[in-house]
Amino acid sequence: MKCNDCDHLLPPPTIEEQIAYYVCDQCGNCQTEDASELSKTTSDLIAEFESQSSLSLPDSYKSFLLNSEDSKFINKSISITGEVPKDLKHFLDNGTISINKIFGVSKEESSIFDNNYLIEEWELPSNLLLLDGDGHAWLALDYRENTKEPPVIFIESEFNQYIIVAETFELLIKNSY
Ligand SMILES: [Zn+2]
Repeated sequence: MKCNDCDHLLPPPTIEEQIAYYVCDQCGNCQTEDASELSKTTSDLIAEFESQSSLSLPDSYKSFLLNSEDSKFINKSISITGEVPKDLKHFLDNGTISINKIFGVSKEESSIFDNNYLIEEWELPSNLLLLDGDGHAWLALDYRENTKEPPVIFIESEFNQYIIVAETFELLIKNSY
């Protein structure tokens, strides 16, 4: 969502009493949206995200989003095989990357609807779908070369060096522990 006044991408809203408040961090403009939006089902939100972003989510990620137990995917790790670029080495712990939580679609918390904002904020390449991260490094689906079954990458935001963590989202889930 963009600011009505200056066209800057708006940060995620604060929600109070069924109203979502978006405050522009460029010009201070505040705009609101009916938060009954927020009672949409997960499938509605997935469809909305796909049409808004023109990205098609891998089936395995969709099932992950639809399965509420999976959303408690917190504090897992995945081992990295292969060469790690030097700017990424200090993000790894004993050859593993930790995954805190995979973004969902609910607009009430950090979600894939924040993707454009975060990509612009951290000057990351477009055509990534961010899944988890703290600003300095991100786990993301990489649609740059494969729009059907994008690999999962780990990318740092200073030089945009990255490694492939899993060939598919399904393998990310399967291989993390
Ligand atoms: Zn503005």
